[in-house]
Amino acid sequence: MSPYIKIHAFAPDWIKDFHCAGKNCPQTCCHGWNIPVDEVHALNYLGMSDAYFAPRFQPLLKKTRRKQNGTEQDHYFLNLLGQPGEICTLQNAEGLCDIHLKLGASKLCSTCYFFPKILWQIDEQWTLSTELSCPVVLQSAINRPEPVCFQSIPAEKDPQAEWLETIFILDNDCRALLLNRNTVVMEVIHFLQDRSMGIADRVNLACQYLGALKSENPPEDKSQTALWITEVAAATAHRNGLFQVEQFSSTKDAIDWVRLLSRFFNWGLQSAPKFNREAHNDFLKVLCANTDPAEMIAKNYLDIRNNTLQPFFIDHEYMMENFLVHFIFSDMLKQFSEYHSGFITVQEILDYEILQLCAIFALFQFLLVAQNIAAGKMDKDVFLQTVYHVGRSYIHFPASISQSITRIQEDPDQEEIVRLLLRC
Ligand code: SF4
Repeated sequence: MSPYIKIHAFAPDWIKDFHCAGKNCPQTCCHGWNIPVDEVHALNYLGMSDAYFAPRFQPLLKKTRRKQNGTEQDHYFLNLLGQPGEICTLQNAEGLCDIHLKLGASKLCSTCYFFPKILWQIDEQWTLSTELSCPVVLQSAINRPEPVCFQSIPAEKDPQAEWLETIFILDNDCRALLLNRNTVVMEVIHFLQDRSMGIADRVNLACQYLGALKSENPPEDKSQTALWITEVAAATAHRNGLFQVEQFSSTKDAIDWVRLLSRFFNWGLQSAPKFNREAHNDFLKVLCANTDPAEMIAKNYLDIRNNTLQPFFIDHEYMMENFLVHFIFSDMLKQFSEYHSGFITVQEILDYEILQLCAIFALFQFLLVAQNIAAGKMDKDVFLQTVYHVGRSYIHFPASISQSITRIQEDPDQEEIVRLLLRC
């Protein structure tokens, strides 16, 4: 019997059929990270005198003390990174979890119980998505030619779920927007799933829509906000055709794009602090001789984009669509700690979302080229490995994306930045 309260959550349709691949999983989630353990389960593990489990938990379960909301609190985690091969020592020879097998699912800490599902709450509304580092998720969410649909499905309430209480938000328009998060997100996803356009034009239209939401006057009567959100989407779709993206083809434009990405993600080609920049430059001089590293990167990018990615996308553009749809559903309008900090405006939120969407779009194309170089080929597996990598190393750490956006947010010409990011 499930130890968790039953709820209904808005989710991608395929999640209701999700099953862990268990011993058939090619990579296992019990590897390569430190798993946070909720206090109830941590104390339960610490209290075990069982001859099998007690000596196994002893080197695995760790405690740290951190200050949170002004008070010191204990935090527990399974220290997988400190184990041989970074694998959980409670995994048996068949790759199955001994806690689950011998003690039952209710004894799994909530992180392990719910993984790869991510649940969050805005007031009384629940939404459910998944991490991208699970191969079953990659197959179900990304490797599917048909568009993803969304619906309310039965779920369980994760006690560690993120939450937003809109009562803390002081700006009325902002509160109304976030209460209608799912309506905004679904409109953006409709733009992304419009296969009559190329993928960059769809992202561009989604950004135009977010831009229209921030520049048009929201209704005084906040109960009309959902209707207003859909009307602005309809008006944006009506203007479609006015804002097409022209892919860059010259090395000069590609260099500008590489430099912009470098500023975003702090690669050190231009914008890192002086010491880092000099260290980077010393390495790059040896690597690139006298050629500008941004130029070498740009030339390699153009070569692989034109000769490998573009032919792949003729039949597989739906994979890019599905990745972006998953990202938007899981990450858009989700800066809950920022919103909780008090006064934030619709303009600030939507500026952030436009930059984030375009940055992830551009970063993904860049990483696809990197993965292609490493694999020496381009196929669906290479695409899925890139999604896995992005999920684990970039969007798994929202704070790093948020720092990247902040780095570029001060720039006065946001429209030019968005245009350049999408031209890849
Ligand atoms: S990564 Fe996914 S399929 Fe593999 S063990 Fe974890 S939940 Fe199961």
